[in-house]
Formats: sequence, C-alpha cells, structure tokens
Amino acid sequence: MSAAPPTSLAGWPTPLEKAPRLAAALGLREDDLWIKRDDLIGLGGGGNKVRKLEYTVGAALAAGADTLVTVGAPQSNHARLTAAAGARLGLDVVLVFPGRPGASRSGNLVLDALFGARVRWAGDVDLAQLAATAEETVAALRRRGARPELIPFGGSNAVGARGYEQAGRELLAQVPSPDLAVVAVGSGGTMAGLVAALGADRVLGVDTGAMEEPAAAVAAMAGELTGSDVRDRLRIRSDQVGAGYGRLTASTAAALRLAARTEGIVLDPVYTGRAMAGLVAAAEEGIVAPGRTTVFWHTGGLPGLFGHAEAVGLFDGSLPVFPPEDGPAD
Ligand SMILES: *Cc1c(COP(=O)(O)O)cnc(C)c1O
Repeated sequence: MSAAPPTSLAGWPTPLEKAPRLAAALGLREDDLWIKRDDLIGLGGGGNKVRKLEYTVGAALAAGADTLVTVGAPQSNHARLTAAAGARLGLDVVLVFPGRPGASRSGNLVLDALFGARVRWAGDVDLAQLAATAEETVAALRRRGARPELIPFGGSNAVGARGYEQAGRELLAQVPSPDLAVVAVGSGGTMAGLVAALGADRVLGVDTGAMEEPAAAVAAMAGELTGSDVRDRLRIRSDQVGAGYGRLTASTAAALRLAARTEGIVLDPVYTGRAMAGLVAAAEEGIVAPGRTTVFWHTGGLPGLFGHAEAVGLFDGSLPVFPPEDGPAD
C-alpha cells in the first residue's frame, strides 16, 4: 500500500451533534443518539468522499500527477468532490460517466461544471466497459503530455479507506466509547475504514445496492488495513436496497422526512436516507437500544437530492398550503 502522506482538503474534526428529538422519536433517551456531521466537511458541498480523497489524491500527487481521472454515475458525489479537490489543488480533472451529454443537467453535474471538470461520456456501457474507458482516457491524456492518475471508483481502495480509519479515531476522541456507528455502504471504503478503527462489532453497515458483494469488498479493504480477516464478523443489513441502487424506497422517504422534521437535517435518497431507514429498523428490532450510544454517520449527498427525479417529485408535490383550501373560512 502506498505510504504517501495525505493531502489536506478540509479542516478537522467534523462536528458530532446530539439528536435528541430524533432519539425520542425512535424510543431512545436524548443522550443516546449522535450524528457525525461529515456532510459539513468544508470542500465542494461536503461528504465522505473528501476523507478518502485526502489519501488517494495524496498518493496521486506523490506519483507526480497534474490531472485526476475518475469514474462514477453522473450523480456521483465522489466525482463532484474529485472535481472540487482538483480545483482546490490546481489539478485538471476528467470525469468518466456512462451515458451521453445532455441526458441530465441537475444536482451534482451542475457542481462538476462549476468546479471546471471535463467529462468523458462513455455511452451505454456496463461497469467493466466504464473502467476500460477510464483507462483509455488516462492513455489519451498521457499522449497529450499530461500526467494523469486514476482515482478508483468511489475512492474506495485500501488507500482511500485510510481516510475513514482516521475518521474512526477522530470519533473516539469525541466520544470515547460508542456502542454502534451506523453508516451507508456504497463502494465500501467508508465502512472498511471505520471497521479498522472501531472494530467490526461496533459498525453497522446499511447496503445501498451499489455493489454485488458489499461484504467481500469491505472485508478485503479492512483486511488490508488491519491484517486480519473480518469477513465473518461484519454487520451489514441488506433490507433497505428495495428496487435497487438509486431507487427511492418508501422507508427511505420516511427516513428523510423523519430526520428533516425532528432535527432539521437533510439526508439524501441514495445513501444517508437508506442508512437512516436501517437505523430505524434496527431501533424497532432493539439492536439500537436505550442506554447505548449510537452514532449515525452523516456521509453527505445533499446535491444528489436535487438530481434525483423521484425524490424531487415526491417532496415537490406535497407542500401544504396555509390556510387549508378546504378548511373553514375565517
Ligand atoms: C459514496 C457515499 C456513501 C458510501 O460510501 P462508500 O465508501 O462508497 O461505501 C455514503 N454516503 C454518501 C452520501 C456517499 O456519497
């Protein structure tokens, strides 16, 4: 593994905030539930990908990079934050997305453009073809005299996961003995780093359906970080995937409303909303219980809410008016 030093992209630590009204709604005591506000990380709209980028971009800089290339879905938070990191550090950024120009213009894509990134549209491709297009893009940039480095999908390899191993240590300095951290699992690096710092027993991952075998990916990265095999000890819930990655589920919509209306906190429909739905289910099952300290890891994603047609449609159409149109006249 690269031992390159991380590059600084934001100020630390992120706040750890109590969520007493949400705790009460879940049948917990007001001191039981905390939110780790990685959505407030001060780069590019915030979110968990910044912590991983401090390490992966640190390695790219050590390799002499002047250009960052990465892949993802067009609404990728990781792509948006890679674009922001490039802007912050004076590096060119090329994002490789499936699809064609003009197919979508909202959410994260607006910010990618604002940060000055270029996009290579790969057309109708699967994940393997997308990776191949990223390699071709790196080769084409080299032929033009650039020094590109490829940042992995979601920023998730063992180098990027070190950002979350560090985050786990950061949490332990804020709350010395948390019982459980609840976090969304996409490409898996976030959970892997937390497992390395907190131990497998204290991390509950909520699968978002981004990968076929999340446990294998998390175990591989956590294994590289710790030198031990945690596969059989990982705690990953798969009950919130619903119709698949990116699709809005009823329990996710309910979780978005709950967090917004108890704490004024915005979750996103793909990751953090699912993670909160998993936390709600865990509270119903008594896994998250009164008298134990639970930390909900807010990994960001707010811009993605505005790029998500199902979520925008759901909340857009439900704004009640005052006075009610069918109520009594004054
Ligand atoms: C990517 C992402 C995650 C998942 O993190 P991984 O390390 O890919 O598992 C969670 N929340 C948000 C908002 C994300 O963008």
